[in-house]
Amino acid sequence: MTEVYDLVVIGAGSGGVRASRMAAATGAKVAVVEDMFLGGTCVNVGCVPKKLFVYASQYREQAAQAAGFGVDAHINNFDWATLKTNKDNEINRLNGIYKNVLEGPGVEIVTGKGEVVSPTQVRVGDRLLDTKRILVATGGWPFKPAIPGAELAMDSNDVFAMESFPESVVVVGGGYIAVEFAGIFSGLGAHTQLLYRGDRILRGFDEEVRSFVSEEVAKVGVQIRTQVDVVRIEESQGKKICHLSDGSTISCDMVMMATGRTAKTAGLGLEALGVETRKDGSIIADERFETNVKGVFALGDVIGTPALTPVALEQGMVFVSQQFGDGSRSINYDLIPTAVFCQPNIGTVGLTEEQASEQYPGDVDVYTSEFRALKHTVSGSTERTLMKLLVRRSDDKVLGAHMVGEEAGEIIQGIAVALQAGATKAHFDRTLGIHPTGAEEFVTMR
Ligand code: FAD
Ligand code: NDP
Repeated sequence: MTEVYDLVVIGAGSGGVRASRMAAATGAKVAVVEDMFLGGTCVNVGCVPKKLFVYASQYREQAAQAAGFGVDAHINNFDWATLKTNKDNEINRLNGIYKNVLEGPGVEIVTGKGEVVSPTQVRVGDRLLDTKRILVATGGWPFKPAIPGAELAMDSNDVFAMESFPESVVVVGGGYIAVEFAGIFSGLGAHTQLLYRGDRILRGFDEEVRSFVSEEVAKVGVQIRTQVDVVRIEESQGKKICHLSDGSTISCDMVMMATGRTAKTAGLGLEALGVETRKDGSIIADERFETNVKGVFALGDVIGTPALTPVALEQGMVFVSQQFGDGSRSINYDLIPTAVFCQPNIGTVGLTEEQASEQYPGDVDVYTSEFRALKHTVSGSTERTLMKLLVRRSDDKVLGAHMVGEEAGEIIQGIAVALQAGATKAHFDRTLGIHPTGAEEFVTMR
């Protein structure tokens, strides 16, 4: 008799691993199918290696700032091979940990490409897995616009595997990945230009944050050019020649396209099964993560919700609670904190000023503080910090908190707890500061 799984998950990334192991921990019979790497995008070609590169990129600036404190800290050399090897070693270690956290509660790892052949069957090579439920957690994949010469440009996956470090780089795009990688390249010593087709980078963030961070990022060496796009790329004498929409050209060693990501659904068999998708290819799933085909579920980047690891993790927890638990958990997309790891960081949670004013016209107080951090009074750096709170006047509730500055991501994580608990401005005002920190400014704004 063939074994029937309670759950077959396709994709062992952030969402798929969390859902598989938590489901197996309830006693369910679970298999997870993965064709590339355990841990998915975040562990292998996303958050984790990116953050290691961000750390590496900070030393040059820190060394330059040390002189003001009497410390002679010259950077003599940067060796890409060492950084890449150490990054690869750490990822190998994490891949092993992911194997253990899956196998520990009894998840069967099936290596290969998964294809949904019916609402109760997944094919992997010549194996057919019979199952009561299917969960598609296949994530996303970098998208490059189809311009002539696009194949000469790297995407974020390629950058993590790059064999040598370029002297000059053009980064195309104005989203998270473009801004973070421009900071990484620049910090590690490459001449870096960021080209964005719109008028201001980081569409969707608070407008004041967008302008402020544009200025700050430029101070640490990223040249931002807006209202311009690359229309064609050629190769000549080992250089990449970018032809731009304004008629100009740029010669550089490397072009990175950071022009978004698309849902990874090709070859999954969803079309034949009649699973509904949006125009952009993402799968349509309800609040229980079920698609229009009963028994076929989907979560994570592939369903077009905010493409962040903690969102995929939470979706995995909610899915398991509803399918294998007491059903008490539900998903809430309000108040998702997020950070952009550029120099300095952006940290943000809740509504932007524009969203708050639109939702509560005439009922929003804006508290802003802009200052030079204590460290920079001596370091010689002209870096500035921005902090902002949006408060609903009628009930004093804090609707949003934004920061551009050192460790903004770390600071906003704590503020997010306060907002989740429904904090009012009076709560912020009653909270004592920790002195001297930058974060204390959040409780002293009047
Ligand atoms: P993924 O993690 O992408 O996992 C999908 C898995 O499915 C992959 O392992 C893939 O190989 C597998 N798969 C796909 N198709 C098949 C198939 N047919 N058969 C078998 N296996 C299949 N988020 C943050 O919160 N913070 C960050 O700092 C951050 N930085 C990022 C930096 C970069 C460069 C990128 C690209 C992303 C970053 N993200 C970050 C986003 C985060 O990585 C994703 O939101 C998260 O990984 C989504 O998880 P997921 O489970 O939906 O998909
Ligand atoms: P984003 O969607 O954030 O940004 C894509 C950028 O590319 C936008 O600026 C967009 O411009 C531009 N673009 C899109 N198509 C074209 C085109 N045809 N020609 C020129 N420019 C184009 O995607 P990313 O790839 O940066 O990141 C994907 C997601 O991964 C993020 O949204 C985020 O959720 C997640 N992520 C999270 C990180 C974190 O938490 N720190 C870090 C990295 C990624 P326009 O604005 O005009 O549409």
